[in-house]
Amino acid sequence: SAPSAAGLKARSSTAGYDVTRIREDFPILRQTVNGKPLVYLDNAATTQKPKTVIDCIRRVYENDYSNVHRGVHTLSQRSTDLFEAARENVQKFLNARHSHEIVFVRGTTEAINLVAQSFGRSTLKEGDEILITAMEHHSNIVPWQMLCEQTGAKLKVAPIDTKGELVPDEFEKLLSPRTRLVSVCHMSNALGTINPVKAIIELAHSREIPVLLDGAQAAPHMVVDVQDLDCDFYALSGHKLYGPTGIGILYGKEKWLEAMPPYQGGGDMIRRVTFDKTEYNTLPFKFEAGTPNIVDAIALGAAVDYLQAIGLDAIAEYEARLLHYATERALEIPELTPVGTAERKGAILSFTLERIHPHDIGTILDHLGIAIRAGHHCAMPVMDFFGLPATARASFGLYNTFEEIDILVDGIRKVIEVFG
Ligand code: PLP
Repeated sequence: SAPSAAGLKARSSTAGYDVTRIREDFPILRQTVNGKPLVYLDNAATTQKPKTVIDCIRRVYENDYSNVHRGVHTLSQRSTDLFEAARENVQKFLNARHSHEIVFVRGTTEAINLVAQSFGRSTLKEGDEILITAMEHHSNIVPWQMLCEQTGAKLKVAPIDTKGELVPDEFEKLLSPRTRLVSVCHMSNALGTINPVKAIIELAHSREIPVLLDGAQAAPHMVVDVQDLDCDFYALSGHKLYGPTGIGILYGKEKWLEAMPPYQGGGDMIRRVTFDKTEYNTLPFKFEAGTPNIVDAIALGAAVDYLQAIGLDAIAEYEARLLHYATERALEIPELTPVGTAERKGAILSFTLERIHPHDIGTILDHLGIAIRAGHHCAMPVMDFFGLPATARASFGLYNTFEEIDILVDGIRKVIEVFG
């Protein structure tokens, strides 16, 4: 189908962003699925990997691999140097003040659990409160519920409106003298909403309440500067950042990490162990018990290098155009209702089609080679709020094109034809 005038305008100005070149970096994109060229629009679930990341993994296993921080031998030294260099890459990527504020974890989920069990368990008392929002991913809900069960603390939830935005007055009202932590997503995975996190942090800090940002979705799409944000913790997943699975980051301000007890015990996190007393290691090793995910951490360093070479500002600008175009074109379809229409949104288009279940949408689109996600997106309370069992979600990444959006729109029309 032909794009509208507004749609054409959105796609006309992508000067300087060479998406054709960028796509060449992603071997997986050069394939057909069900006889059609793959159109990968499931980037909020996980992103594909550039060759530089894949090559990095192979190169380290073929040349430099050994355990870190332990050996005097050459390979152990090399692995350690690469591992610590990756930490410094991530430090620069997030503009953290110190590299020891960067803790390697498995992903956002583990980062949040670490804060809940270490910071939370050591500071929260019965009747204390944790404030989250109604648009959180389960991984920013369940760890706090577990903590509440363990400590007698209470979980408070700031409401959203029908656009999928926080209601600022309601949020402020929920900050009480008992609030000990605010934990909010920087960008919602179910709705795409980008939260006013700087204002939230200022407000919380004016009452001396620390703030954790769940950056799983935001980090791949925009510049994240933890010093400028002044957040106390920032959690992200490598696999959503064009890096490997099984590796992620917890950034924490030095003052909090210093004060927090270890999360897990074992090797590497100690300085000295006797049966009477164990002395813990310095940061960040205090929080990295056991052999870490060495090679994937190094490859995450390669992923952030890759992103910085393109530039997060350029990516953000390009993806904003993609989202604008996708939204314009989607709205040409009368049967389609977007879910999540916040003013500030990342490159996510959640939607429903009249009388057609999202799983059917996903299945028909897959026959056409188009990968989207259908489901509750690990945000069941968001689905409950909108009174939906599920949505279909197309989520865009740095390698997606305007042509792919046209293919998606044609695919959605086909779904309506089949089920309509
Ligand atoms: N938070 C948000 C907003 C997410 O989108 C996700 C993943 O979908 C997570 C947290 C959890 O990330 P992971 O499964 O990589 O730990």
